[in-house]
Amino acid sequence: MELLQRIVKLSHEFGSEVYVKGGGGNTSVKNDQTLWIKPSGTTLKTLTEESFVPMKRATLSGVREQNLSTEVAERESQVKDILMSAVEPGATGRPSVETMLHNAFSAQFVVHTHPALVNGLTCAVNGEKKSAELFPESIWIEYTDPGYVLFLKVDDEIKKYKKVNGKEPQVIFLENHGVFVAGDTEEEIREIYSSILKKLGEEYSKAGIDFDIKVNAKSKNAPANAQKLANLLATTVSTSGNFEVVNGPLTPDHIVYAKSFPFIGEFDREKLDSFKATRGYYPIICVCGGDVFACGASENRAELAMELAMDGAQVAQLCKAFGGVRFMSDAAREFIENWEAESYRSAMMK
Ligand SMILES: [Zn+2]
Repeated sequence: MELLQRIVKLSHEFGSEVYVKGGGGNTSVKNDQTLWIKPSGTTLKTLTEESFVPMKRATLSGVREQNLSTEVAERESQVKDILMSAVEPGATGRPSVETMLHNAFSAQFVVHTHPALVNGLTCAVNGEKKSAELFPESIWIEYTDPGYVLFLKVDDEIKKYKKVNGKEPQVIFLENHGVFVAGDTEEEIREIYSSILKKLGEEYSKAGIDFDIKVNAKSKNAPANAQKLANLLATTVSTSGNFEVVNGPLTPDHIVYAKSFPFIGEFDREKLDSFKATRGYYPIICVCGGDVFACGASENRAELAMELAMDGAQVAQLCKAFGGVRFMSDAAREFIENWEAESYRSAMMK
């Protein structure tokens, strides 16, 4: 099908490391009746025509008329049921939690990503103010727990914008998260993304900030420390030379793949156990003896965690152009840590 061929091509283009890490980001294409969405837990760059989940748009649009529970966990489970009931019969794959956001746009193509260059803005103290200055035609959505509540907010803002401007917005920045770009052609999507990245790039250059982070060479103790950590936590470990690891929650994806807080110190049973007692989990990212270590159940998972830690360091560095990092609140972080949909997504990444 022609539409699916087109969204696959676009997804591969925006599935590179510049735009997303791991299973982050999602894409969709629609006609009047059907929305095809990327399944949760898959990567943009490996999508095929068969992977897209066809969804009934009428069911998705009807979600606002449903009488949903005011209790968060129950409501999210009701929303999940509605999402599943919108899947066309015979289709497999769990639709992305951001499906309803995609359906909120009328435009044919929607590409949602988390580029570090953009998160340098969305995670920054002055992000909202700067986005109004640099991208007056965009919408800024202050941080909201993902899922239904975020959909409601975005849907309301799109409608408000349309009332004032006579058309829907094409760019939505989500604070501490990423960006949604909507367009009726692939060319529009490409042009909007490249103008966003170009404008932000100029801001970082003006502020004298390097795009890339500085990564030191590994120390001579790195292999021994990696082995020690692997033994203590019975895990696979990926090692890097030192870089400035971020100590706090930046975005949901950083939490899902690398957790919010690194362990800093010598590796021993007592210290790691005390970290777990404080944080509720053993560390994923560890800093010891001038090196950085990422833990994971497999080599891929450990490497992905390291990628997210490096991405976080890059985001924090870029945020300096806009007043420095603004971390997520404790409540926002805890919501992600306890969110069923996210643990599903994380578990899908082998
Ligand atoms: Zn996202």
